Amino acid sequence: MIADLDIRTSTGGFTRTRRTRRTAALRGLVRETRLDPSSFVYPIFVTHGRGAREPISSMPDQYRLSIDQLPGEARELRSLGIRAVLLFGLPASKDPVGSEGYAPDGIVQQAVRALKDADPELAVICDVCLCEYTDHGHCGVLSTTGEVLNDESLPLLAQMAVSCAEAGADVVAPSDMMDGRVGAIREALDASGFTDTAIMAYSAKYASAFYGPFREAADSAPQFGDRRGYQMDPANAREALREVEADEAELADITMVKPALAYLDVIRQVRDRTDLPLAAYNVSGEYSMLKAAIANGWLEEERVILETLTSIRRAGADIIITYHAREAARWLANLG
Ligand SMILES: [Zn+2]
Repeated sequence: MIADLDIRTSTGGFTRTRRTRRTAALRGLVRETRLDPSSFVYPIFVTHGRGAREPISSMPDQYRLSIDQLPGEARELRSLGIRAVLLFGLPASKDPVGSEGYAPDGIVQQAVRALKDADPELAVICDVCLCEYTDHGHCGVLSTTGEVLNDESLPLLAQMAVSCAEAGADVVAPSDMMDGRVGAIREALDASGFTDTAIMAYSAKYASAFYGPFREAADSAPQFGDRRGYQMDPANAREALREVEADEAELADITMVKPALAYLDVIRQVRDRTDLPLAAYNVSGEYSMLKAAIANGWLEEERVILETLTSIRRAGADIIITYHAREAARWLANLG
């Protein structure tokens, strides 16, 4: 004891941040960022057929589900405390204008009804984009020379949003990156009486290599070219702020940065600039690279996944869209 006192005195009482790291209870008291399953959104891929639970080979533990699997899925998510899902559909057939995307009995519209029947309190979010439904795999309609047309795509995106709202979606989430789509969707929703349907805008969606596994999952790879003509350049952050500002002006209810991990700085900058709720999409490639390293025994599963999700929250995201939602929710329940 005396020796201790001597050291403190002789070193002049410097800052000892280790004092509050000493025990789990003290660390809990001073923890700045917490994970809670109520801020997770779990993405679901829905496919036609019955009894389908097709593994997605590039995304371990993720499946394409048929409609009859959804009530069971909803029950499990509820038991884990996950209260929101984001739906992606695999249509029966594709065409140049993505017709099944806005068909009243399209795969996603059926999925919304099944989930709402199973659990009316589940927040159901529908991705709104043409790329899963077009035979060319681009997010809008094409000109005769193969250019993705902005203004001509807006009515179709608006129609898709309205059809999801009609099916019972709480939120529509345009991910196409056409200019003016949030405004066009808001106008169409309001005109159809869906003034309470919210818009979560993929405001800053980057043309990222981290989407690779998703394209297998949703069968949405572009058949020619790439999406750099409409998605954002990974080098730009100020442009993300302009995108968010534009979407806010067009009355988006929630804004988003996608992907999350290579863009934590963008999440922080957006957080500091807008008062809108902010979502971050922890995308397929981010999920699969952790899973691959874990499968090789190179990383410790629970710790590395919770650390990753915490980093996204710490950067400033309110909402985390993540394929890790279910396992993370289980671990968090055990921690509690
Ligand atoms: Zn798309």
